[in-house]
Amino acid sequence: MNQDCPFCQIIAGERPGRIVYRDETITAFWDRAPIAPVHILIVPNAHIVSLNDVTEDQQELLGHLLLAARKIAQDQGVHDNGYRLLLNTGANGGQTVFHLHLHLIGGKRFPLDMATR
Ligand code: 5GP
Ligand code: ZN
Repeated sequence: MNQDCPFCQIIAGERPGRIVYRDETITAFWDRAPIAPVHILIVPNAHIVSLNDVTEDQQELLGHLLLAARKIAQDQGVHDNGYRLLLNTGANGGQTVFHLHLHLIGGKRFPLDMATR
């Protein structure tokens, strides 16, 4: 855990968070400033800074994040109408929290050129 990381703090229960799913390797919780009717962040429990820091032996983790996103989309009722997954990496990618996270957003139709904000 990184003591200064807001997502590590949520995972550790040291910061409020609306957690919707968790298991041994990942946790999912509502974004604090949702941009759509559904906006959930899916993160590894381990503090991994960004996609750039994922190693070859963590391929399974990436697959797990994606399949969990699909399952959470089902739970949140957006699976059938469709949803968007975003993975911002680094400054130019729009990453503001440096703990790897997948945005699951849904509940409305998004333009092709939309970022997270
Ligand atoms: P990024 O721009 O890094 O891809 O996305 C970071 C996201 O984390 C933003 O959508 C922002 O609203 C969300 N966020 C930042 N700090 C917190 C927090 O403390 N709690 C929660 N639930 N979301 C946060
Ligand atoms: Zn962290």
